[in-house]
Amino acid sequence: MSRSTKKFILKSRPSGEVSSENFELVEERLPDVETGHLLIKTHYLSVDPYMRNRMNNVESYVSPFEVGSALSGDGIGEVIATESLNFEIGDIVVGTLPWQQFALIDEKKVEKIQLEETISPTAYLSVLGLTGLTAYFGLLDIGEPKTGETVVISAAAGAVGSVAGQIAKIKECKTIGIAGGEEKCHYLIKNLQFNEAIDYKSTPNIRKPLRKLCPERVDVYFDNVGGDLSDAVFYMLNNHARIVLCGQIALYNLNRLSIGPRMYPQFLVRRVRMQGFIVYDYAAQFSEARNQLKQWVLDKKIKYDENIIEGFEKLPEAFLGLFKGENIGKQLVKV
Ligand code: NDP
Repeated sequence: MSRSTKKFILKSRPSGEVSSENFELVEERLPDVETGHLLIKTHYLSVDPYMRNRMNNVESYVSPFEVGSALSGDGIGEVIATESLNFEIGDIVVGTLPWQQFALIDEKKVEKIQLEETISPTAYLSVLGLTGLTAYFGLLDIGEPKTGETVVISAAAGAVGSVAGQIAKIKECKTIGIAGGEEKCHYLIKNLQFNEAIDYKSTPNIRKPLRKLCPERVDVYFDNVGGDLSDAVFYMLNNHARIVLCGQIALYNLNRLSIGPRMYPQFLVRRVRMQGFIVYDYAAQFSEARNQLKQWVLDKKIKYDENIIEGFEKLPEAFLGLFKGENIGKQLVKV
């Protein structure tokens, strides 16, 4: 039996700052389930900063969203009809889902989640999902933190940053988070045991606190933000420092990138290595990394928080909130 669904489409491409005007809620009738496909009732959808780049019509590592088509991202859903021998009604699955309440999905695009009492299914969108994996590979493979080194993380109270910081603690590094607001800084120190935190919103020049908190300079900078904030950290890099170029959220809403003071002489003198990466580069090692992250969660070495907004209609609001810093931990929407 076919059914109708609400869905969010990209109404227009943003010019500069993304707004709710760029999204439109429409209703659509779904066709019957074809062989090899599943009808999924969406339970949770993840909103992520990279989606802003997919709203532009530019070539990247993922194709742009099409104007007039549903946006999509990671999600968790329940199989409610199946034309596949591999899935049963009631299975809970994770994978790329469109921003729809119900969706027809190719069985190859989703994986079953084994439900466990010790870990919530939403963890597959946070600490065991792409953001946890990004923190894991970015910090360990590119940052190469060593015992006693100083690790600085921007957007530290967010999904990637909070996990990266806790892995740095596991590796016995001095860990300093940069985040917006007193509440987030308190959270980093009290809940996640970061050594220090800097509130960049109340500290116009973060070079001062950085100098005070990093007397031995910065060995690993896990950069989620870019812009002026990162320039300030660059002044504090140690010899042979590593910059993990993970994200540049401060720049995603800009139409044109400004060319600021170039830090290359600093990089040269300090023999710095800066490396960008995309988490999918590590797809072959996801399962091994997920097992390690899960073990750390079970051993209470990693805590994960999720900021869950209820209501399918709130998807654009939840997404826009990422650029205003409204989330602590992973931002999700409960459909
Ligand atoms: P977060 O959960 O960290 O949410 C985004 C956070 O960024 C906000 O909460 C806000 O925190 C901060 N922020 C937003 N705008 C600004 C700004 N102008 N200046 C400084 N901080 C800002 O998101 P994720 O953890 O999902 O992603 C973090 C970064 O990692 C993003 O840049 C993302 O693109 C990148 N990423 C990269 C991947 C890769 O494969 N390379 C994969 C996944 C994510 P605050 O209140 O502290 O300002």
